[in-house]
Amino acid sequence: MTASSSIPVAARRRRRVLGWFGAERSATGAEPGPTRAGDVGAQRSALRRRLFDDIGTLIFSHHLTPSPLTYGVLHAYVSGEDPRTGAAVAERLRTGAGLSDAGVTQIAAAQDAEETAALSRIADALEARIGDCLAAVGESCDHAETFGSALHAEAEQLRRDPQATLTRVITLTEAAVAASRLVEGQLHRAREEAESLRRDLHSARRAAERDHLTGLLNRRCFEQKLHGIEQAGQRAAVALIDIDDFKQVNDRFGHAAGDRVLKFVAGFLRAQLQRKVVVARYGGEEFALLFEDMTPGEAVEALDDVRERLSVRSLIHQDSGQTIGHITFSAGVAAAEGGDALSAADLALYAAKNGGKNRVVRAGA
Ligand code: GH3
Ligand code: MG
Ligand code: MG
Repeated sequence: MTASSSIPVAARRRRRVLGWFGAERSATGAEPGPTRAGDVGAQRSALRRRLFDDIGTLIFSHHLTPSPLTYGVLHAYVSGEDPRTGAAVAERLRTGAGLSDAGVTQIAAAQDAEETAALSRIADALEARIGDCLAAVGESCDHAETFGSALHAEAEQLRRDPQATLTRVITLTEAAVAASRLVEGQLHRAREEAESLRRDLHSARRAAERDHLTGLLNRRCFEQKLHGIEQAGQRAAVALIDIDDFKQVNDRFGHAAGDRVLKFVAGFLRAQLQRKVVVARYGGEEFALLFEDMTPGEAVEALDDVRERLSVRSLIHQDSGQTIGHITFSAGVAAAEGGDALSAADLALYAAKNGGKNRVVRAGA
């Protein structure tokens, strides 16, 4: 890492958030970022500081009351931990509706109500299906018991009157078969409904893991995967990518065009990297990658290839036919170990920006 890693981290992130509502880029960062690349404690505290600063910037720029509720809603947006709440905040910022105390309360209430309703719908349905299954199994047991006792009684009659006993046993068996078909039908229906509930749960879980704009995994899910890899002591590398001069795309072609560029870059990264590389939207115009079973050197090589291929593409604005031009990104790569891979990758990313952008820098290089 070069001396350029001492860029004020909080100021840069604040710029990203301010960009959402068109505030001045000159907003000053009160807190300095970490001054030594190897200072793990400082990196961790810089990341926390950054999150806190982003939330504070939003609170004060929108004249919101700094209440726990406001903090919670904005934390969901900035951290990406609750995609639905984050999307509701993003929508207000995007449409220019802005944020107000009433708006934040509304978002919190709507999300609470939506989540509670969705969960209670699934819970009610599951409860009903479990009830059906228990009833069907109970009924089936009762039938089997009745049939067993009836057969036992008939067995005693068999010697005395074989013909009549046989006729009764046939009738009994037919009734038992009919009853078991009924139970079979009930179980079959319960199973189909349970399958459909399983699909609902699957899509609810999927929605909670995905970024709504690009369809990539979201930040929370990425961090969970990274944590899993680190816990397992598995070899891997992480990369943080930031699109260069993206604000200009929004400024020149509008926010909708910016969104399309984000989707394009997301699709490009997904398509150009091996399937086993985890690609996530980390926030704004930033992406995070997890290269399993790869060293940072191998990851740099693979990512630099993608960077090169993207940089030679020239994008066209779909509606106006205007040339958006070349989109480039900068990236920082670090080994996924020690619980601070993201901070290290982040610092390497700043070095890449400071080195002139459109480049991939390896932490510690
Ligand atoms: P740098 O090369 O230093 O990264 O410059 P930059 O312009 O890319 O960075 P800056 O942080 O100044 O601006 C990032 C912009 O990204 C500001 C914000 O409005 C925009 N942005 C963030 N998320 C979205 C999004 O979901 N859609 C669109 N259209 N723009 C977004
Ligand atoms: Mg950025
Ligand atoms: Mg950028």
